[in-house]
Amino acid sequence: MSALDVAGEFETIRRLLAPLAHPEWGRGLVDDVAVLPARPGYDLVLTKDAIVEGVHFLPADPLDTVARKLLRVNLSDLASKGAEPFGYLLACCWSERCGWPERMSFVDGLRADQKAYGVWLLGGDTVVTPGPASFSLTALGWSPKGRTVSRAGAQPGDPVFVTGSIGDGWLGLQALQDRISLDPERLGALADHFRTPVPPVGFAPVVRDLATAALDVSDGLIADLGHLAAASGVGIEIDLERVPLSAAGAAWFEGRVDPQAALEQLVTGGDDYEIAFTVAARDEAALRREAERRHVRVTRLGRAVAGAGVTARFAGKAVSFVRTGFTHG
Ligand SMILES: [Mg+2]
Repeated sequence: MSALDVAGEFETIRRLLAPLAHPEWGRGLVDDVAVLPARPGYDLVLTKDAIVEGVHFLPADPLDTVARKLLRVNLSDLASKGAEPFGYLLACCWSERCGWPERMSFVDGLRADQKAYGVWLLGGDTVVTPGPASFSLTALGWSPKGRTVSRAGAQPGDPVFVTGSIGDGWLGLQALQDRISLDPERLGALADHFRTPVPPVGFAPVVRDLATAALDVSDGLIADLGHLAAASGVGIEIDLERVPLSAAGAAWFEGRVDPQAALEQLVTGGDDYEIAFTVAARDEAALRREAERRHVRVTRLGRAVAGAGVTARFAGKAVSFVRTGFTHG
């Protein structure tokens, strides 16, 4: 690394990132480490996701939305485990397109989301790369001791639910690549969802109290339900007609000549950042009450059964998928 890059790195940390640091634990980003006091009665829950230009975000995406997406995809993982976030570690691999204004924009995005989600920067690293930009973030959260929800734990008979709506991430990517036509307002809503998804972070306590198993929907609904089914040692049956759509998603869906193929696309597209989960049948009413109280949409998709894998039905007939979701390289 050249002297110029090193100067850029120190300036980036001192002027842009240090103001985001936790006032005590981050040590102003001038030390080699962050130091967290242990929290008695709680487990520390950690997750990490990396995103790469051209793979997880588009070269034309503004960097403030890239930063927000990076943080949010990690908060989505914590929420799906019932954990509440408080901080994060960050690694930035800036590409040539990331000059000072772009770095400022990145930090503006982080600042806005730190405020929205109550989290602080704790530390990290910043480097430059001759390749595409990439960013990696480790999110930290707390959950009461022994209460972190896992993918395992679903029992045959448990109803299967999902929060929010499915398909907007995939539709947003299509919108940004001019592959679908809709009115500009709806295209904009879909593009926003792709660039800055809104994971149901406030739903974490409900997941913790009521879910028997849970995970976030990032690879695709069918693929992720498959992960939950495998970890729990159960099968999952869902009806594709029940898959919840947003207003923009529904507008796109109404124009399809083949509704089954359209739903198949939406449930395998990924980038949803909603929570899929099971509850015990006796807790279904409590779940609906809690969801309503918190203004979180929940939809019952089907149920867990004895067996293995995901069976999706359309018009009562089982559908088989060639591809269930996004596979990581
Ligand atoms: Mg996940």
